Amino acid sequence: MAKLESKVPSGPLADKWRKHKVDSKLVNPANKRKYEVIVVGAGLAGASAAATLAELGYKVKCIVFHDSPRRAHSIAAQGGINAAKNYQNDGDSVYRLFYDTIKGGDYRAREANVHRLAEVSANSIDQCAAQGVPFAREYGGLLANRSFGGAQVSRTFYARGQTGQQLLLGAYSALSRTVGQGLVQLITQHEMVDLVVVNGHAKGVITRDLVTGQLVRHSGDAVILATGGYGNVFNLSTYARGSNATAIWRAYKRGACMANPCSTQIPPTCIPVSGDYQSKLTLMSESLRKEGRIRMTKNAAD
Ligand SMILES: Cc1cc2nc3c(=O)[nH]c(=O)nc-3n(C[C@H](O)[C@H](O)[C@H](O)COP(=O)(O)OP(=O)(O)OC[C@H]3O[C@@H](n4cnc5c(N)ncnc54)[C@H](O)[C@@H]3O)c2cc1C
Repeated sequence: MAKLESKVPSGPLADKWRKHKVDSKLVNPANKRKYEVIVVGAGLAGASAAATLAELGYKVKCIVFHDSPRRAHSIAAQGGINAAKNYQNDGDSVYRLFYDTIKGGDYRAREANVHRLAEVSANSIDQCAAQGVPFAREYGGLLANRSFGGAQVSRTFYARGQTGQQLLLGAYSALSRTVGQGLVQLITQHEMVDLVVVNGHAKGVITRDLVTGQLVRHSGDAVILATGGYGNVFNLSTYARGSNATAIWRAYKRGACMANPCSTQIPPTCIPVSGDYQSKLTLMSESLRKEGRIRMTKNAAD
């Protein structure tokens, strides 16, 4: 059986990543162009990773099965994005965001990584705003916040009910800029069908050209799989068809470890009512379905 090596840095929780960054060896800027990183996926995760790595000076190849990165399922996200900026002065902090996230994740998430997420949350809002994401603002022009997901503080940055769409447009324009500069090679309509592993390290992918059917080899120095959620492995789901397990399944078959497959998001509106303790949303959609105002198909609640 494979042994999970999480590579979490040593030291006290709040210092782990700061210490890791200081301890890490730097790559000489002149050498960065010698390294090629393959990024599979161009949703919020893949597009921002590809654009950022290119800005840092690495050669990047970004592969997606959609006809445009703008088709990624990130576009469906609505609510908002949490950051410990404490704009409302209601007692928020990196530690409180860390604690709420661990609690919200049923105490199953990896603490060091969640702490890092909380640490970088404030900067990620600044980065998105710099990319032109039109977050909601107060009358006076400052970024607005709302309380989200049962949090006791208001730390959610949002763009009406289309935060994911606006974030994706921001990530897409950052990616397009690097594509235009010749730093990223964007390959669309190619589905990753296998991962190439050399001495235990991912060094390439095999893709199928979805137009011609041809199999293509891609080699690099590192591979990032940013291929999104896999809610469609469940019978009922409101996910896009492409949110399946095709890429991560290949990685799993090649030896990658996978934990907590039950921790994937399936919006509650698609689950048929089975008891009184189910969320209000589910009950609401069930009553709308009974009234014939919505139709439940196998994979989507219309
Ligand atoms: C309705 C809804 C509401 C949400 N609300 C929120 C919210 O309020 N706040 C929040 O933080 N999160 C929210 N989320 C979750 C969040 O949107 C997602 O976790 C996030 O956008 C996923 O981004 P991603 O880049 O990982 O994946 P995706 O956007 O799904 O992108 C996957 C990419 O991988 C590519 N791909 C996949 N498989 C292959 C393959 N085999 N070969 C080649 N390319 C492949 C696709 O082409 C695509 O470009 C919501 C999600 C949904 C669906």
